Amino acid sequence: MDVPTYTSEDAPVPKGVVVIERASTAQDLGPKLNRTAADVVRFLLTNGEMVTATQSLSDEMIDLFAADVGAEIRLVDPGEEQEVELRKLLDFDDEVEEDERLSWPTRPPVVTVMGHVDHGKTLLLDRIRSANVVDGEAGGITQHIGAYQVEHDGKLVTFLDTPGHEAFTAMRARGADATDIVVLVVAADDGVMPQTLEALDHAKAAEVPIIVAINKMDREGANPDRVMTQLSERNLVPEEWGGDTIMIPLSAMTGDGVGDLLESLSLVAEVEDYRASPDGRASGSVLESNLDIGRGPVATVLVEQGTLSVGDPMVAGAAWGRVRALVNDRGERVETALPATPVQVLGLSDVAEAGDTFIIAPDERVAGKVADTREHWQRLTSLGRDASATSGGAKLEDIFKQIQAGETATLNLVVKADVSGSLEAVCDSLKRRERDDVNLAFVHRGVGGITENDVQLASASNATILGFNVRPDRKAREMAEQEKVEIRNYEIIYKLLEDVENAMLGLLEPEYEEVVTGEAEVREIFRIPRVGAIAGCMVTNGAIRRGSKVRFLREGTIIWKGSIQSLKRFKEDAQEVAAGFECGIGLSDFQDLKDGDIIETYDEREIPRE
Ligand code: GDP
Repeated sequence: MDVPTYTSEDAPVPKGVVVIERASTAQDLGPKLNRTAADVVRFLLTNGEMVTATQSLSDEMIDLFAADVGAEIRLVDPGEEQEVELRKLLDFDDEVEEDERLSWPTRPPVVTVMGHVDHGKTLLLDRIRSANVVDGEAGGITQHIGAYQVEHDGKLVTFLDTPGHEAFTAMRARGADATDIVVLVVAADDGVMPQTLEALDHAKAAEVPIIVAINKMDREGANPDRVMTQLSERNLVPEEWGGDTIMIPLSAMTGDGVGDLLESLSLVAEVEDYRASPDGRASGSVLESNLDIGRGPVATVLVEQGTLSVGDPMVAGAAWGRVRALVNDRGERVETALPATPVQVLGLSDVAEAGDTFIIAPDERVAGKVADTREHWQRLTSLGRDASATSGGAKLEDIFKQIQAGETATLNLVVKADVSGSLEAVCDSLKRRERDDVNLAFVHRGVGGITENDVQLASASNATILGFNVRPDRKAREMAEQEKVEIRNYEIIYKLLEDVENAMLGLLEPEYEEVVTGEAEVREIFRIPRVGAIAGCMVTNGAIRRGSKVRFLREGTIIWKGSIQSLKRFKEDAQEVAAGFECGIGLSDFQDLKDGDIIETYDEREIPRE
């Protein structure tokens, strides 16, 4: 199709709603609105935004330009429109009339168990499984596939073993909302804890019924009333107090009350009336996926509609293939899987991602086409689309050489900061330091810790990562080392600007590198009168040494820096505690500790320049 290119600003305004993909470049955007790329660049420039024709535009920039043209647009995520087309190709329609739904048979409820660490999720799942194996066959091999089905009073219940509530929400964000009911486990002796509340928020966001399992009732300090009071404060009022939340006291250890929980699940399922059709091509969600050395890519999926059969051409996210074998939760090969059944699928071309949805395609050719198109889109979106940044970008330390060589150099940057205010401040100040012979291109800017994704972006575009009040997590650090991506961390804005300016002048100061020597995760907080807060930690990496410099990270953001005041292993003072051991860490004047915080210790060392 020929796209007319108008150079004049009085070209006609496009009629109707124009669909524009997020992160479009001026080159993409201009022609769609009957303008040229140059029109877009010029317009943005007069509005204080300097971009090249091949650089991705922000939502605001796109909106601003569209408003100027007078065009009505709809911004979509890249690939979203494509996805609608792909669904057509798959000939898949998931809209259902209520009459039709009521003609379907009922299906088992799908249950996810969540709660604070150590409150007994794992033991409860094990207990339920061992006591209620579907055909009662003792000694059947139970295989961990991330989900299983049990039978109670002749009725089936499916349990998903989601690793943590973040994973649960991440899966939902990717389109998999397989869970019907959440069981929130709270230990009766410990009461409501931070992760209980987080899990509660995740469950509420999913808008599914919540049943509370008050666990560890066999313990001496069990106090179910306290749990009920704490939860009532969060609008989860137990039925016996006139509310509508089922709360079951039980013990995963002794098994007491576990039957009541299963009863309640069946009851909720009956009321909610879950139904699915076993007819037609199957669809559902990917729960887990990995590469098995002997068997190739293996995906555990939950069938949500239809019947999945060996031989079906499956598309799961960007993976596809003919189903070679199906393995159930007891390790047995099966030919088919009905709705609400978890099964492992063998035969996919690739490792699908947890949270991907799967669909059986009309034929293998369509399956392959859909998967390939998605893969193409994923590559485009994950690598950023700043073409100017990709070609000829230089690292901070090399920028001067390029300038000297008389070339216009482009310094590609990935900027991450702790809050959006500081991110803007950093980027704006950097932009103002741009010179005639040096372009600064932001390959990516974002709020939060430096992640693998940032390193991947930087690596793909030869960019330097600048972190302001944030740190790379361990995976990002390892990947940066591997990919030789430079990460520079700052806590003072002018220091960051100075470094960038100096790099442009060829005057980069000797750099001090921080070598991380240990990492510990805060598991519990003890408040001791006159001493203050002590962080009960698990050392997860390296070793923690008394007197080390230390910083405190919460979700990748530095919240405090200082040094370790006291270090104890059990009650004894310790000089050093190695990975894999627990310890108590006291910090001089920092008291605002939270569960899940990361304590990082480090040494400083000068990096020799070449
Ligand atoms: P998760 O982190 O929530 O999966 O917790 P786990 O299932 O691993 O349980 C943590 C600890 O609490 C383990 O040592 C369990 O044996 C123990 N535990 C779990 N449930 C009970 C219970 O009902 N009674 C008692 N006494 N201990 C329990």
